[in-house]
Amino acid sequence: MAQFINISPKENSGLNLFDFAPLTLKRIVVLGGGESGAGAAVLAKKQGFDVFLSDSSEIKPKYRDMLIEYGIAFEEMQHTEALILNAGEIIKSPGIPDKAPIIQKIKAQKIPVISEIEFGGRYTNAKTICITGSNGKTTTTMLTYHILKEAGLHVGLAGNVGDSFALQVAEKNYDYYVIELSSFQLDGMYDFKADIAILLNITPDHLDRYNYEMQNYVDSKLRILQNQTEDDAFIYWMDDPIVSREIEKLKPKVTLYPFAEKKEAGAKAYTENHKINIETPNGKFTMEEELVALTGTHNLYNSLASGIAAKLLDIKDDNIRRSLSDFKGVEHRLEKVARVRGVEYINDSKATNVNSCWYALQSMKTPTVLILGGTDKGNDYKEIESLVLNKCHALIFLGVDNSKLHAFFDGKIDTIREAGSMQEAIEQAYEIAQKGDTVLLSPCCASFDLFQNYEDRGRQFKDCVRKL
Ligand code: ADP
Repeated sequence: MAQFINISPKENSGLNLFDFAPLTLKRIVVLGGGESGAGAAVLAKKQGFDVFLSDSSEIKPKYRDMLIEYGIAFEEMQHTEALILNAGEIIKSPGIPDKAPIIQKIKAQKIPVISEIEFGGRYTNAKTICITGSNGKTTTTMLTYHILKEAGLHVGLAGNVGDSFALQVAEKNYDYYVIELSSFQLDGMYDFKADIAILLNITPDHLDRYNYEMQNYVDSKLRILQNQTEDDAFIYWMDDPIVSREIEKLKPKVTLYPFAEKKEAGAKAYTENHKINIETPNGKFTMEEELVALTGTHNLYNSLASGIAAKLLDIKDDNIRRSLSDFKGVEHRLEKVARVRGVEYINDSKATNVNSCWYALQSMKTPTVLILGGTDKGNDYKEIESLVLNKCHALIFLGVDNSKLHAFFDGKIDTIREAGSMQEAIEQAYEIAQKGDTVLLSPCCASFDLFQNYEDRGRQFKDCVRKL
């Protein structure tokens, strides 16, 4: 029987925990009270499980209210082992690493640990379009959702963006879901199957969560293929050396839809003579490349991937064309902010690794003043060196510790400045940039040294630019 208890650290002294938690297989414990955890708890409750949610930090009011509304027992600022280790199954928030002590204990007791997406997938027959990759997930997810929604499909947006998948399964009855999947979510997925899977690319990221073994991270990404059959589709970038090597090795049974920048043998989507071409069993789709809203080679890949998915869902060509050309893009991803005295300001705050900055620089068409820096995640700036030398006449290092950037770039670029705040960075950029230039914030780094997160960094950039 589920009981409503809200244990705060002060109130639980002397509590006989076993009074509240009989050992039962119908007990589901959710770890993490954020978007995915709260949603999973609601779905579990609706499915009749005895649910308990535990979060080692404070739960945001929005989620706390949701738990109270559904009468779900929870605790915050602690993990009470006796209330957790008696679960039949654990749903773990993707943010909790495997090395967390509570997860170690759960594993030692051999209690199955799954992700919210795995759990949600058990209770819906909707078609799922799942998107993963090291870079481009959110953009491709939003674009695919935009195409499907504008075509009139009854579709939900889930995963790392939007409401949690489990919550939507609990409260809505969508026919389709477009789901952004991180490697952490994929790690907790076993029986879930994507009807259409998209793997955009694989470059090193989050290795701290994978014992610093690249192959562990790669294996995690490839889980998006699991359970797929030949009736399902796997869309991937065929020029990614890691993805193509893995496909060669795994030889999955699924139907493959590789895409490439230019026409090449085997590609089902590519450009040729300034046109996008997509070939699927539902026919051939073409469109002038210059009509596509998102710019840059990386966004061409994202558009091709979304286009294949849309075509496989038999969406009319006119609808696909319109949505690919009127998509507004996603905030903080190569977002045009303003043109001030002939200088374009672009916010790419989400570029938290070198690879995404590489693509941003590659898409620059004018001389560039690049603002970069922050919390370095083991960056190798060699990857962007030649693009920086070709495109940038000034660099502004925006971080608490810029020594690694100085060591790499000093002497290679004429103008190098430092800034300790966004305000200072924009003032410097304004002073240096000349008519016709672009000022690009594409930091290559996480933001936590000076900002709350990349959104805060991007918003500060936009505020400062708009005040110029
Ligand atoms: P994710 O959700 O995977 O982090 P986003 O769509 O939020 O991806 O984009 C993150 C960063 O990566 C942005 O700076 C964006 O310009 C860049 N980017 C977007 N798509 C790609 C891609 N296909 N390949 C490489 N970089 C990309």
